[in-house]
Amino acid sequence: MLDSLQDGLRSAFKTLRGQGRLTESNMREGLKLVENALLEADVSYIVVKDFMKDVSDKAVGQDVLKALKPEQQLVGIVNQALIDLLGPVDPTLKLEKDVTVLMMCGLQGAGKTTTCGKLARLIGTEGKKALLCAADLQRPAAVQQLHVVGESVGAKVYSEEGATDPIAVCQNAVKFARENGLDVVILDTAGRLAIDEELMQQLKTIDLKVQPDQVFLVVDGMTGQDAVNSAKAFNEALELDGVMMTKLDGDARGGALLSVKHVTGVPIKFIGVSEHMDGLEPFHPDRMASRILG
Ligand code: GDP
Repeated sequence: MLDSLQDGLRSAFKTLRGQGRLTESNMREGLKLVENALLEADVSYIVVKDFMKDVSDKAVGQDVLKALKPEQQLVGIVNQALIDLLGPVDPTLKLEKDVTVLMMCGLQGAGKTTTCGKLARLIGTEGKKALLCAADLQRPAAVQQLHVVGESVGAKVYSEEGATDPIAVCQNAVKFARENGLDVVILDTAGRLAIDEELMQQLKTIDLKVQPDQVFLVVDGMTGQDAVNSAKAFNEALELDGVMMTKLDGDARGGALLSVKHVTGVPIKFIGVSEHMDGLEPFHPDRMASRILG
């Protein structure tokens, strides 16, 4: 996967043959190629700048190992820096309580409802029972969509006909789970096409009144820079415990993931790799690093 970048670096380092040390000046052209690869992968500009400084600081002064060519050594440093930034890995859902409440949030279309279903399925395979709570009262078809998703993964769905207060729906769902011996409640909250104050206020109120054990942000891996802006806004409004990035089965190189991790600092939990309910995978920083470098 790293071949094309290495090819580019090989020619950039032509003049470097015989030099035993990586320096700022002899790496300049190579670092430019790495920077372009990251920008092409949709990593945000600010993040690329910080990252390149970090890589340059790590690389300058390193002796080129006898067994490696300079381009291999630089790619190794870049790759490791990416893995460090994308990690650490933590795909656990921490479902120890009698009823664990997971709150899912994100922009409309990010893949929230689908990811709720995927999580309910995953939780089912671990021998626990999940209840899906239809708290997205904004989008007319959302409640129905959650019922379809719930049915396909064999999970119960809690919804209230004609409800207008999502906070009450969430509270009642938790009560229902307690009374019916269900282990996990997954709150499918409302999204908007763009961040707005009313949405954030609603989510903050749910967070305050329902006290979910964990809050996860679902971001669309295809949206590049937008993913970064929304992650920033959600992270400022709520205390996020993790991020799930969807649609990584497409062509997107996934650079947005690096930016989202950089701006939120919270672990990437899972990635969505298909529309189907089994399309949720634990996140592997090493695979993602290769994909981002292209
Ligand atoms: P919500 O508005 O955030 O609840 O988004 P939905 O769950 O309705 O998803 C929006 C669209 O994205 C739907 O067509 C989903 O099938 C699709 N989708 C969600 N996750 C993935 C994924 O990981 N891969 C692909 N290819 N499509 C996805």
